[in-house]
Amino acid sequence: MHKLAIHGGDQTKKTPFGTGKRFGLEEAKELLEALEQNTLFYHFGHKVKKFLSDFNDMYQVPYSVATSSGTAALHVALGAAGITVGDEVITSPITDQGTVIGILYQNAIPVFADLEPHSYNLDPASIESRLTPRTKAILVVHLAGNPCDMDPIMEIARKHKLKVIEDCAQAYLTKYKGRLVGTIGDYGCFSTNDFKHISTGDGGIVTVNSGLEEDYHRTHAFSDKNYRRMGTDVGRMPESLAPNYRMTELQGAVGIAQLRKLEWICEQRSRIGMTLDAGLQDLPSLSIMKIPEASTCTYWFYMFRLILDNLTCSREEFCAALSAEGITNRMGYIPDVIYMQPMFQQKHAYPGSTFPFELSDVHYQRGDCPHAEAILQTAVQVPLSEFYTHQDVLDIVAAIRKVALYYQK
Ligand SMILES: *Cc1c(COP(=O)(O)O)cnc(C)c1O
Repeated sequence: MHKLAIHGGDQTKKTPFGTGKRFGLEEAKELLEALEQNTLFYHFGHKVKKFLSDFNDMYQVPYSVATSSGTAALHVALGAAGITVGDEVITSPITDQGTVIGILYQNAIPVFADLEPHSYNLDPASIESRLTPRTKAILVVHLAGNPCDMDPIMEIARKHKLKVIEDCAQAYLTKYKGRLVGTIGDYGCFSTNDFKHISTGDGGIVTVNSGLEEDYHRTHAFSDKNYRRMGTDVGRMPESLAPNYRMTELQGAVGIAQLRKLEWICEQRSRIGMTLDAGLQDLPSLSIMKIPEASTCTYWFYMFRLILDNLTCSREEFCAALSAEGITNRMGYIPDVIYMQPMFQQKHAYPGSTFPFELSDVHYQRGDCPHAEAILQTAVQVPLSEFYTHQDVLDIVAAIRKVALYYQK
């Protein structure tokens, strides 16, 4: 047994992790061209338009709309899908805040379904158990770049006439049974914030998958004050409320250059994730993330669960020991399931008001989604970078194995 670094032994990671530049002259050239247009407004310039047409080609979708963030993309999809006051939207309790913000701004009510214990994604059976006459949409989250089990989810949606919105903020070029996620439901929502596979500083994209021009125009309008700038009914006399979530030409310009790097980035991350899986799968004290059959994961991060019954240490001790080996990690992904946040516990989306929660029989209690809660109590997250070298990946495997074997019962 090797002495752990935390006990004064040799540290596993002896060389610095590979790094690289995300932005270069490609982005600078696009930015300069954007400025030379003498306008940074997406509707007058060409950069956001080119960014979207390149994205559409890559994803083989007919239409998409650019937004100011991933949160905005999700809100736009919800608005375009007709989600409104008192509607219920079923979603995941382990996600970014951006997933629920748009639901509540539409004065609709988030309802949390439980997750599959090893894919960390929505369990179709639990979605079905949460259906009420108010349910209008399912907002799936492809966590960490791992696709949700879309076939049964689409089946439920068809049966109950629900819209399906895919949160693909962490899942660029992820394939579910050969199909890109973001093209399977009615809308696919992406984020280009600075922490995602590609960055425009902030930004987002919504795909409109019906192929209907009117759906595209409605989605577009919802990102821009419900002004109608396209089609035959052009006008600025909105029939209902919509925010301004416009992307600027500067973001579009950077996005064009970033998209050209996306395939390479996703290939690196998939390869890194698969190498980690192969190196860890035999350890009896941890379980690796389960990817649906015939599908791929583009690993926005790597997350596995500890089987604490097979370990002599706590998760805190495991993570501290792994850190001491030179591997940055953190416990879980978010501090707790979304429904345990004060705003859900106190049903205060808007200060001094319990609207819109009072429109529904929804409740938010510890134990609502036992698998999701257990995932957050046992998971260890390891951040990844597409710039990691093969040696870096082998070192991560070696460090996790060293700690797991040391503490194994
Ligand atoms: C990042 C993220 C969002 C929000 O995107 P922003 O661009 O930060 O608004 C939404 N959902 C998930 C799953 C995310 O990871």
